Amino acid sequence: MGSPLVPFGRMVAARMARGRGAAAIRIPDRVGAQLRLVLPAASPRLFVHEGARQALERRLRAAFGGPVVLSITDNRHSIITHRVQRGLLFARVHHMFLDSPPDVTDALVRYVLDDDREASAILGAYIDDNGFRVARRKRSAPLATKGKHHDLLAMHARLNERYFHGAVNVLITWGKRPTAAAGVRRTIKLGSYSAVDRLIRVHPALDRAWVPRYFVEYIVFHEMLHHVVPGSRGLGRVNMHPPEFKEREREYRHFERALAWERRHLGRLLRA
Ligand SMILES: [Zn+2]
Repeated sequence: MGSPLVPFGRMVAARMARGRGAAAIRIPDRVGAQLRLVLPAASPRLFVHEGARQALERRLRAAFGGPVVLSITDNRHSIITHRVQRGLLFARVHHMFLDSPPDVTDALVRYVLDDDREASAILGAYIDDNGFRVARRKRSAPLATKGKHHDLLAMHARLNERYFHGAVNVLITWGKRPTAAAGVRRTIKLGSYSAVDRLIRVHPALDRAWVPRYFVEYIVFHEMLHHVVPGSRGLGRVNMHPPEFKEREREYRHFERALAWERRHLGRLLRA
């Protein structure tokens, strides 16, 4: 009986609105929903302390040296995102940073402006303390784990099993290929770990047939250790490789061999 009613849906709904005939007539859901149901905005409202937002925006503006647009979110999947577009810094930040302690706010500013590694560790700890233990990831940036020559996910799984009892819950991806205009490199960051995103990035220069698996695994292992061993604080800065870190790093089966390989091939990696 649904189909004959459809052309008259509008009329039926109008009658319902006046409170007549509602019990007697079945309206197909779709039509009824279109005509009658007016829902309030679906997303929960986020009440932001505007003064705190402006204060944080001012901090960012002072450090950035240009205009800043700061939005406050309630998003569990990307706690902090930022991009610079035509000289404008757009930052989206979870509301937990509106009342964070001063050292965390400092770290936030450094992280947004310089992608600072110590800052990432401080923020990661703060995010954990605030109960955000799920893996966070911008949905728009897919992870690429399978390279032409090396499969990062398989490496991560092997290392996790062998050295961490399967306890390391992080994401991993090949980093973006640098643009050709970058010229000759003088340094190369072979791996990085963002505690904010719980994400290990491995430099795509390592995805070569001439780079041995034990070396790529060493880089992955090192970054996994950053997730496990926190930096130690002292004298106003964070040591990302405290003694405990260095000790555990030597547990990697091919540690010496990997360091020796790196020394011999650094020049080639810089040109790769
Ligand atoms: Zn390191």
